[in-house]
Amino acid sequence: MSIIIQKFGGTSVATPEKIHAAARRIIATKLQSHQMVVVVSAMGHTTDELLDMANRIAPNPPKRELDQLLATGEQVTIALLAMAIHSQGHEAISFTGPQIGLITDAVHSKARIREIDKQRILTELTAGKIVIVAGFQGMTVDGHITTLGRGGSNASMVALGAVLGAEACENFTDVDGVFTADPRIVPEARKIEQISYDEMMELSSVGAGVLQTRAVEFAKKYNVRIHVRNSAGNAPGTWIIAETKSMEDIVVSGCALKKELTRVTLKGIPDRPGVVARLFTVVGERHIVVDDIIQNVLDDKTANISFTVEHGDLADLKPAVDQVLAELGGHATYEKDLAKVSVIGVGMKQATGVASTMFTALADKNINIQNISTSEIRISCTVANTDAAEALRAVHRAFNLDRSAVTV
Ligand code: ADP
Ligand code: ASP
Ligand code: MG
Repeated sequence: MSIIIQKFGGTSVATPEKIHAAARRIIATKLQSHQMVVVVSAMGHTTDELLDMANRIAPNPPKRELDQLLATGEQVTIALLAMAIHSQGHEAISFTGPQIGLITDAVHSKARIREIDKQRILTELTAGKIVIVAGFQGMTVDGHITTLGRGGSNASMVALGAVLGAEACENFTDVDGVFTADPRIVPEARKIEQISYDEMMELSSVGAGVLQTRAVEFAKKYNVRIHVRNSAGNAPGTWIIAETKSMEDIVVSGCALKKELTRVTLKGIPDRPGVVARLFTVVGERHIVVDDIIQNVLDDKTANISFTVEHGDLADLKPAVDQVLAELGGHATYEKDLAKVSVIGVGMKQATGVASTMFTALADKNINIQNISTSEIRISCTVANTDAAEALRAVHRAFNLDRSAVTV
């Protein structure tokens, strides 16, 4: 019998009625001769509310205690969903991350999964039960509760899919699938039928919050098939799968926006070997993701280095920057309220003119481009936060993403 993983995001379990609806879907899938493992997020906006409560107690709380707090959200949902399934006449058993031996590293609030003890799950599945697992949480080898970063239930889903050799992971959310842009910002965005792991990874990492980047990375590594679907209906959604030949014909598959970025510039630091390595070692030790690194060497043998980080990482970043400046000299400036608009497509590898189409679309709207960065399948422009939504809509239109995909 094949195993199906179904994951329900916060909005899909926000009320008792929605929890009952999820239970009905799980039972219906089980009755099609599948063994069912279900991953759930915290109800509605619970995680945000818990974070808010923590910040009202203390501005920068210890990360271990924050994880202890945030993990409670998912624990509520697993128990309620198990009760809903029981009341509908089927057997279910709920587990927290630690109860299924979901072991992570010790990086609180951004932990990575190391292993899962699948035996406990398999025993319950063999006994005919539906297994419900709390997403987003795990435990260090020393028994400290950890969380897997925002959107981390996606990582739980994919990791379970990989260790259990699941036929597919069905990711139920509040949109019909992965769109050519966030449909909340670009109403004319189109649902994509299928997208490659690489494109989805790039889209997620530049702001498409529908799936967590790490989860997609993991899915690619272990070849886990993900189907993103709307929990409100039965329509097929978007499949995230390995790249196929026909995908290469599409130059631009989608675009995304990341807001609330800060550009950090270190000025007047020495221009000699080892300086950049030292800076990014100190930053990396704090598990902060940096992007768009630019270095300029000046005539006076000093250098300026700038990079962008997410606004939320600033509290952790500033002490690291101060430490490096104390060692090397120089000073730092912080420019807030930046955003990044990006276009993605595997077909970009062969195509020409993608960059100029993007730059022209922004110029026509009088939007100033502050930085440009690229990968093999992505072009990103940094713009002011206030221009961000208009920039995304302009780029979406320039590549005709509302109609059909642009082909070579
Ligand atoms: P869940 O809690 O169900 O995991 P999320 O809020 O984390 O849901 O993710 C779904 C949301 O992602 C959508 O409501 C949508 O606004 C946003 N989103 C951003 N980019 C995209 C995209 N390209 N396609 C679909 N949804 C997107
Ligand atoms: N509840 C967590 C969050 O809001 C994890 C998740 O939903 O995937 O980020
Ligand atoms: Mg999510």
